Amino acid sequence: MSYDNENIFAKILRGELPCLKVYEDDQTLAFMDIMPQATGHTLVIPKSPATTIFDLNAAAAADLIVKVQLVAKAVKTAMNADGITLFQLNGESAGQTVPHMHFHVLPASIATARAHASEMADPKELESAAKLIRAQLKI
Ligand code: AMP
Repeated sequence: MSYDNENIFAKILRGELPCLKVYEDDQTLAFMDIMPQATGHTLVIPKSPATTIFDLNAAAAADLIVKVQLVAKAVKTAMNADGITLFQLNGESAGQTVPHMHFHVLPASIATARAHASEMADPKELESAAKLIRAQLKI
């Protein structure tokens, strides 16, 4: 499948749509999920235009997992979570709703988390979680 330049995360990367950023470097952006499945639910995306994990080259994939680890550690501490669930969906049939590859960092069990992409967060709650995560990542 060819990459859709008009997908929501492509627009966020171009600065055409806002996001609550918690981390950024030359290859990666991390921001709060606006329909969090638990407080602190964060997304980590590569800047390269990959629809699924299969579209990322090995070097970009290797870099991304290091950044996922960094952000997940910050989310775990910031949210005082005992555990972190990482998940990553590839293709509509797997439930992927935004066609730009990303990892979900969820400070909860998937079994008890809210439904996927279902309920908009209270902006104040989202901002306060972002603030705690940013403090861990020192941005
Ligand atoms: P997936 O279904 O794995 O593609 O996940 C896409 C995620 O992006 C869902 O958890 C949505 O809640 C989230 N999402 C959709 N639009 C936005 C947005 N504008 N900013 C932040 N998160 C978003």
